[in-house]
Amino acid sequence: MADRIAVNDLRRHAITTEATVRTSAERVLSSGWYVLGKEVEAFEREFAEYCGVGHCVGVASGTDAIELGLRALGVGRGSRVATVANAGFYTTTALMALGAEPVFVDVERETKLMDLAHLKQILGETTLDAVVVTHLFGLLHDMEPVLDLTDRAGVPVFEDCAQAHGARRGGRAAGSFGAAASFSFYPTKNLGALGDGGAVVTGSADVAQSVRRLRQYGWGSRYRAEIKGGRNSRLDEMQAAILRAKLPLLDGWNRRRRDIATRYSREIGNPRVDRPPVHGEEYVGHLYVVVSDDREALRAHLAEASILTDVHYPLPDHRQPVLAAHGGRTGLPVTDDLSAAILTLPCYPELSDEEVTRVISRVNSW
Ligand SMILES: *Cc1c(COP(=O)(O)O)cnc(C)c1O
Repeated sequence: MADRIAVNDLRRHAITTEATVRTSAERVLSSGWYVLGKEVEAFEREFAEYCGVGHCVGVASGTDAIELGLRALGVGRGSRVATVANAGFYTTTALMALGAEPVFVDVERETKLMDLAHLKQILGETTLDAVVVTHLFGLLHDMEPVLDLTDRAGVPVFEDCAQAHGARRGGRAAGSFGAAASFSFYPTKNLGALGDGGAVVTGSADVAQSVRRLRQYGWGSRYRAEIKGGRNSRLDEMQAAILRAKLPLLDGWNRRRRDIATRYSREIGNPRVDRPPVHGEEYVGHLYVVVSDDREALRAHLAEASILTDVHYPLPDHRQPVLAAHGGRTGLPVTDDLSAAILTLPCYPELSDEEVTRVISRVNSW
């Protein structure tokens, strides 16, 4: 039987980065300082520069970054925040922790990103306190029309960049368009730590200062709590040092991901498998997602050839049991249709050309 092709393979990633990660880890080990020190400060500086923003604040996870970033923008109990329902429930988790209400916006069929016509309709009918734009699967939303709409309504935009590290439009990177933005460094992300991690980036010194306080008990200075909503949500020195070692390699990995996605989009020719269009720098190939009229059959056909797939995500936010009260009321036809038809193919930098060819042939033979 042919070798298994996994959806992702972090062991291969670990091998290619082992030497530099080991050096970084040893530096932290011998420093005797493990939380909020020189490594976190340096990573925050380097990542802010990479994103082209003034400030970066490291936190414990991507979900915490959404929660603390939104709180710093004034979102709290009773706030109403627009978000998509096809992005894995992370933003909705953060909103529930804040006591805010998600206002679900449908997505566009082709890009699978927030449908601006629906957002415009919602802005005309109700008051919102913020809009969260998720650059899903690695595709940076076209932010100009988003900001046109939200600026006119006076509503701040928050970007969830957990799947879009390094995606660019017109030379501007994901995270540099909104009032603030979140990143996750979960191990499978385009820039991944060896554990959990996240960051908020922002052009605003005030927002950055609020997040710095919120991530550490609301402290303004040591043992002196000055603002409400404080938590313990810190990026640790070990993860920061590992992320610093990997950051210079990110653009190369993103190019390789995009090359694999481009081959899939060009060479898959099965009429029952819709592919995303070929993209430029605005797409960093976090996940390569096709749409099929019989997903389960396609999935089984691939599995028989030891090619593994996944579904991101099978249950939209408004259908999650915890939001049962929401379910029936929300009309999100495209989100619902897509959740039954999407399938994620293997797409990660360490995939070989031969493996990519195997995936393409197998999809085409279905
Ligand atoms: C991974 C992810 C998050 C959450 O990140 P964690 O670090 O796992 O909390 C948020 N949004 C999106 C779109 C993600 O893919």
